[in-house]
Amino acid sequence: MEKFDVIIVGAGLAGLGCAYTLAGKGLDVLVLERGDYPGSKNASGGRLYINPIRNLFPELWDKAPLERHIVHESITMMARERSLAMDYTGDELRREPHQSYSLLRSKFDRWLAEQVETNGTMLMCKVKVNGVLKENNQIVGVIAGGDELLADVVIACDGVLSFVAEKAGLRTSRTAHDYAVGIKEVITLEPTLINERFHLEGNEGAARLYVGDITSGKFGGGFIYTNKESISLGIVIGIEDMGTDHSAAEAPALFDAFKQRREIADLIKGGTTVEYAAHLIAEGGYNAIGNLYGNGILLAGDAAGLALNIGFTVRGMEYALASGYYAAQTVLKAKESGDYSSKSLSLYKTLLEESFVLKDFLSFRESPAVVSNPRFFNYYPEMIGNILQDIYNVPTGTKEKLYATMRKHLSVRDMWGFLKDLRRITRI
Ligand SMILES: Cc1cc2nc3c(=O)[nH]c(=O)nc-3n(C[C@H](O)[C@H](O)[C@H](O)COP(=O)(O)OP(=O)(O)OC[C@H]3O[C@@H](n4cnc5c(N)ncnc54)[C@H](O)[C@@H]3O)c2cc1C
Repeated sequence: MEKFDVIIVGAGLAGLGCAYTLAGKGLDVLVLERGDYPGSKNASGGRLYINPIRNLFPELWDKAPLERHIVHESITMMARERSLAMDYTGDELRREPHQSYSLLRSKFDRWLAEQVETNGTMLMCKVKVNGVLKENNQIVGVIAGGDELLADVVIACDGVLSFVAEKAGLRTSRTAHDYAVGIKEVITLEPTLINERFHLEGNEGAARLYVGDITSGKFGGGFIYTNKESISLGIVIGIEDMGTDHSAAEAPALFDAFKQRREIADLIKGGTTVEYAAHLIAEGGYNAIGNLYGNGILLAGDAAGLALNIGFTVRGMEYALASGYYAAQTVLKAKESGDYSSKSLSLYKTLLEESFVLKDFLSFRESPAVVSNPRFFNYYPEMIGNILQDIYNVPTGTKEKLYATMRKHLSVRDMWGFLKDLRRITRI
């Protein structure tokens, strides 16, 4: 039977980050990917924050196929017939090193996989892992395509539903509240049109988030990221809300309605959809992270639940790359002692705890409860829209004083509710 030092299941960012770090270190590493090529099965909004991982992969960023550096942020509250946007841009976002970039996973993952293979690591695509091999309570390999492949350690980087973690008995039960579904299109558009419509120059990029009526007032939102020659447009909806108030079939309908909103239709006019994807996102935060390691196994990226939504930023890609990096460091240490027991592999959790990864998750552990407050998706967009409508309205008769206009929409009960929400926000 084939025996490897390390088998990595999944060539997404966690798997590739791990394989890249292990490459050239004298270990026999095999990466198994069920897709036709790395990036073919991976969906992401498409925004990577480089700062936390710049030094983990220092030689990558100059040559990586990133799309545009983000210089224009905005968040828009959408009510039924109006929207209210908050913009953030300026020279500080244009200064190098840029903190975040848009990217396309089908390009980026493929390129990263090439770097991994160039350094001598074996990567096999179109191979699905269907099970794990256990011996004396230790994971000793995987079953893939009917073959049994042995390894000192298996690294599960197989994404949000991690079948490998489940088979290894490491998956804690999660609820529908811990997941959202994302639908995303990539729409090609002339770069000059992108720059004109988003007020950009050269390779500058924009990131726009949308909340409110687009998800029928339920947990979730929309996003747009500009790429070099395309736009990534998507919508995310909480699974729990879909289960109670929506049928699953309504998610694509909400996405279509979002595309047809004037605010969005004007931005994508004349574009051609070249990619359509739907994918789950982990939304459970710190409390949904279960076991990160066991005897002969480590979990990284989405497989470990490492995606974090704090309302203004949605991050999973750099946690995937970083956890892959720390998984690799753990394996290199375990190799020195030849000990792949869970005691030895517990170093992985320590490394994550000492890094930005688990520090972020711990700081923002209240985030899932706070950002899923239904009032952010229905009450506030409508209420703030009503106030603005009256403030901007010039009637035929006399205009009401501004304070009176606002009070009309804000009863004592409303203000009390607002203060309670504000108190919750202070927890994140
Ligand atoms: C719509 C959407 C928008 C998002 N927006 C952002 C964003 O803007 N910024 C951000 O940082 N994060 C974002 N995220 C989250 C981010 O995409 C994920 O956190 C990240 O992709 C996780 O990487 P990963 O390598 O752990 O998993 P994945 O990228 O899912 O990779 C898992 C890999 O394992 C393979 N695999 C699975 N099962 C098997 C098997 N049995 N055998 C072999 N191979 C297998 C899959 O084919 C896949 O290639 C978004 C997610 C979604 C869905």
